[in-house]
Amino acid sequence: MKITNVRTIQLTRRLPRLQRNSCDVRSQRRFTFILVDTDAGITGIGEASGNHNLVAAIIERHTKPQLVGLDPFDIEALWQKLYTSSAFWEIGGSPVCAVSGVEIACWDIRGKAEGVPVSELLGGAKRDWIEAYASDLHWDEPAYMADTARGFVDEGFRWVKTHIGAEHDRDLDRLEAIRRAIGPKIGLMIDINTIYDRQTALEQGIRQSAFDPFWYEEPIAPADYEGHAWLRERLPTPIAAGENLYTTYGFEPMLACRGCDYVMPDILRCGGIRQTRLISEAAGRAGVVATPHNYSGGVGLAATLHLMAAMPETRLLEFDTSGTSIYEEMLVEPLAVKDGRVRVPTVPGLGVALTEEIIAKYR
Ligand SMILES: [Mg+2]
Repeated sequence: MKITNVRTIQLTRRLPRLQRNSCDVRSQRRFTFILVDTDAGITGIGEASGNHNLVAAIIERHTKPQLVGLDPFDIEALWQKLYTSSAFWEIGGSPVCAVSGVEIACWDIRGKAEGVPVSELLGGAKRDWIEAYASDLHWDEPAYMADTARGFVDEGFRWVKTHIGAEHDRDLDRLEAIRRAIGPKIGLMIDINTIYDRQTALEQGIRQSAFDPFWYEEPIAPADYEGHAWLRERLPTPIAAGENLYTTYGFEPMLACRGCDYVMPDILRCGGIRQTRLISEAAGRAGVVATPHNYSGGVGLAATLHLMAAMPETRLLEFDTSGTSIYEEMLVEPLAVKDGRVRVPTVPGLGVALTEEIIAKYR
């Protein structure tokens, strides 16, 4: 089988309410899907994170000329070719996001060609349902956040994640309202989205620990590995980090300096399915729990589900409960969520489709 073309499709979904984290306000969500066509008539669907315009340009000008004519089953060799050809001008960022999307599409092609779900290609699903946490509760009025969090718990989720960090005192009001609404037994993850410096992260982390957080996510700059270790020694709350790190090379220093308790590779950003597996295995050897980050359209969700099904040591799928992704429309089998768990797709490939209706609706 040979690759005949590589295309990107970018979709936009307007949000009914602003999504705010500590360093960003969104009125719309963008999705970049990567389609890898083959001479067998099979098209693989991938998805990439990062700067959407840059990823599309990289795919068109840099990736496509290198991929056409190659065998899509040769996933590791394709990955190395694309990664090493960009590493001398950029070792992370959008080039690695582009490689991630292509790699995921090639797994989809292989699964479709062999008639098996991607989890089978990864060693077989060891579980059919994955325990998830509700994400995301963006910062807003405390009462609105509390009501929304309560709704997630009523749906069956036992963990809820919130984004704060922009307003120190008011953030404590938010945490208090959320904790009161969800009760003491539900896990509450706090995501700072990298905005604090070390000292602020320590001070705010101590204040926020009064609300018994399950983890404290990305409190400081992603590559300040030693800073994570410094905080981890001083705070009672477990540290989660990694959604902004790239490839095993980016995660090794974090694991080596014991900077986190939970490591969060993003399958659309860190290099794709195989890199997420390698990172998760390295985490296991370091005594760190791998809990993949997922803020995506349907492809990122499906790819993460297949990997987590094949790797039972990974924990807690990040599941978008904001209703602003396009999960339901893209999954071939109906999305099944029950008691805070999400069902792993069972059809060949990833189990996603990008129909003309979806494209027309969100283009
Ligand atoms: Mg995060």
